[in-house]
Amino acid sequence: MPERFRALTRTGDLKRVIDGIRAAREAGFTRIKLNAVILKGRNDDEILDLVDFARNENVDISFIEEMPLGQVSEHDRAETFCSSDEVRSIIEAQHALLPTTETTLGPSRYYRMADSESRIGFISPHSHNFCEACNRVRVTAEGRLLLCLGNEHSVDLRSVIRRHPGDLERLKAAIVDAMRFKPERHHFTTDGDVQVVRFMNMTGG
Ligand code: SF4
Repeated sequence: MPERFRALTRTGDLKRVIDGIRAAREAGFTRIKLNAVILKGRNDDEILDLVDFARNENVDISFIEEMPLGQVSEHDRAETFCSSDEVRSIIEAQHALLPTTETTLGPSRYYRMADSESRIGFISPHSHNFCEACNRVRVTAEGRLLLCLGNEHSVDLRSVIRRHPGDLERLKAAIVDAMRFKPERHHFTTDGDVQVVRFMNMTGG
């Protein structure tokens, strides 16, 4: 598992991650949520292990359909795409999933298990598009306001701040005005075509 974790995350240290989860729980964080992107032939054989881990650690876990962000070479997205419905049916072979209206105000659709506090979530940009309920924009470390995870539309807030240092009203107005450019939805496909050149780690969650 540690080797596969490092291979999938490129740099990840599984022990450090697990220690971090436990330290967060011991520090009093509640409702800790893990995210897992499932790829066929890469980690789809670990879906039930991930659910067991979440149950044992008393944390939530959301399974995310891979989004075509950034050019990848080590796998073919068309081949490795694993839908939320496929992941859910694998889980339901072992655990009955009860739909719940609980939300974290994010795109995850949650399910409960009768014998556990852990919630199972599904983030399904391809199979259950959630853009109509979108409430997200993101700011990069360089001060760029990204209006949509699945599109390149953005506004440079740093230049506003530099031109008008300390002028909060001007900054607010720039953010409100930027909403005119917010796309209605993403246009992701599962055929492996790259929709957005920036990787997820350049955008943030
Ligand atoms: S509109 Fe863009 S940011 Fe909003 S949910 Fe869709 S892809 Fe994500």
